[in-house]
Amino acid sequence: MSIAYPSMSPAPMTKPAASTHRASGPPNATWKCGKLCKAKPLIGGKPNDQDIRDAALSICAARRSICANPCAAQSGDHWRWPCWAGGSHRFGAAGHRSIIVDDNDKVSFGSRAICFAKRPLEILDRLGCGDPMVDKGVVWNLGKVFFDERQVYDFNLLPEKGHKYPAFINLQQYYFEEYLVDRARELEKQGAPIEIRGGNKVIDLSEKGDHVALTIDTPEGAYNLEADWVIACDGAASPTRQMMGLDFVGRVFEDNFLIADVIMDADFPTERWFWFDPPFNRGQSALLHKQPDGVWRIDLQLGWDIDKEEEKKPENVIPRLKAMLGEDVQFELEWVSIYTFQCRRMEKFRHGRVLFAGDSAHQVSPFGARGANSGLQDTDNLCWKLKLVMDGHAPESLLDSYDDERVYGADENILNSSRSTDFITPKSDMSRLLRDAVLDLSEHYEFARPLVNSGRLSVPCTYDQSKLNSADMLDGPARTRPGSPCPDAPLGDGYLLNQLGDQFTLLTINTEAPAQFEIDGITIKHLALSSADDKSSAIKERYLGDQAQAVYLIRPDQHVAARHHNFDQEYFADALRRVIGKTA
Ligand SMILES: Cc1cc2nc3c(=O)[nH]c(=O)nc-3n(C[C@H](O)[C@H](O)[C@H](O)COP(=O)(O)OP(=O)(O)OC[C@H]3O[C@@H](n4cnc5c(N)ncnc54)[C@H](O)[C@@H]3O)c2cc1C
Repeated sequence: MSIAYPSMSPAPMTKPAASTHRASGPPNATWKCGKLCKAKPLIGGKPNDQDIRDAALSICAARRSICANPCAAQSGDHWRWPCWAGGSHRFGAAGHRSIIVDDNDKVSFGSRAICFAKRPLEILDRLGCGDPMVDKGVVWNLGKVFFDERQVYDFNLLPEKGHKYPAFINLQQYYFEEYLVDRARELEKQGAPIEIRGGNKVIDLSEKGDHVALTIDTPEGAYNLEADWVIACDGAASPTRQMMGLDFVGRVFEDNFLIADVIMDADFPTERWFWFDPPFNRGQSALLHKQPDGVWRIDLQLGWDIDKEEEKKPENVIPRLKAMLGEDVQFELEWVSIYTFQCRRMEKFRHGRVLFAGDSAHQVSPFGARGANSGLQDTDNLCWKLKLVMDGHAPESLLDSYDDERVYGADENILNSSRSTDFITPKSDMSRLLRDAVLDLSEHYEFARPLVNSGRLSVPCTYDQSKLNSADMLDGPARTRPGSPCPDAPLGDGYLLNQLGDQFTLLTINTEAPAQFEIDGITIKHLALSSADDKSSAIKERYLGDQAQAVYLIRPDQHVAARHHNFDQEYFADALRRVIGKTA
């Protein structure tokens, strides 16, 4: 079957040029062409002499996309520099400093990640990048599933109203990286102590007890740095992981996927379309997504036993795309890659003063868009904890909860991703028979639809098992139980999550609490709401349920730490100590 393109403007084919592979899978075959691939130099420079002479600098092998909002701390006579994504405005204001080093000096070329989920958009909003992402991105909430030649059903990922951000946007990874770098630069201009060093490659790293020693190579020569903390966001192949002799556990999937970003003028609706066993790719799967700038992502499963070098050649890619799009459809190849993938993670994400985040810590299949989306949640989880430790407000052991919570999150992602992969690629004839029967049933029977798995799309993790949670003292909605990410709701002219911000907050609804609540040197913000503020009833539905009133203690990463039906000073003081790692 071909897809009918209602309108199409002719676009000349361009000749592909060789390019470097940058993907989360192993380096396979990639080339790029077209006018939209970004390779804009954004970061540059070798360290200045002052840094090298005086400074006990610390640095991480950091990814711009993950560690775009870094910070660092002054330690004794020296500046030592940790680095992480998220909350640099907090750290800047607190006088913390950081450096990002990246052996590359440009944002990605080729789009790689395209689907950014609601939760990461909410995190990015706290960093000042949410709106540019949505303004540029293609917003979508709807998906369609096809089997053979027919559509079997569609689904809505965000059926309820009252959220600032949509379920998903599609946006090329290079835009995302550019916005993060721009924001870091803007903060730097405003005086936030952030430094981005491109073309700086970590070539050696060792733990020294109270700091980490690194050697960084640059085109001008190597230099040494010391770091209080290192956040290693250096990707799937993570040299940091290798330098520390650490490894992954998990599965490698024996499959190959052709990813093609094509420029074409098509007016499909902005939805995710997924095919099982379509006529244009028999026995395999296919995926279509719209991106900005008239770019479309096509993902074709190829199977295991292929010649990657052959498959990546335009003379083989183009017929495959024509079989899908139709012979007459004009398109221009923007970026093509063939990849395989793993679902695996490091056993632990914290190794003393080195903390792993993003693809260096865990990898999943792209089905479900859980790679960059979970990396952002890693750093959101980590940065407030590291800040408390660096401020002297929390014991270092609080960082173990980063390990506990994000390993739990990674396992959830890996489980979902592996299940999707197993459904998309049945491992036996019997599994395929069962899979196809489910797909047939799903066309007419709603009960079968939850069994169809074309990639369970990224949703935030609820840290049910976290030691940072306090006992639930409110018979409230399950979705806001301790450990849950706070759901958004309309509030005044804006939204609840914007009001919560990025510090500890006591949220009271229809009840009182002291205006100022301070425990162990930490001041907790108070956000007092009443039913009168809740015109849409979304806060009642999401935070009260059947209860008339409630008090929530919310973490800086906007997860619920504790909740009670009223302000019980002892309960909340204890809850705060627990969430900063001071009580068991
Ligand atoms: C085809 C494809 C589609 C995808 N689609 C999605 C999607 O829709 N949604 C989603 O959420 N995710 C998606 N992903 C996954 C997503 O791209 C990755 O999860 C994300 O890029 C990981 O970010 P990272 O910062 O951890 O690592 P990377 O992006 O790999 O960055 C690592 C950085 O570290 C640098 N580095 C490496 N070694 C050193 C060193 N020694 N010194 C200094 N710097 C070093 C590298 O140059 C690089 O800049 C997709 C991936 C692929 C391949």
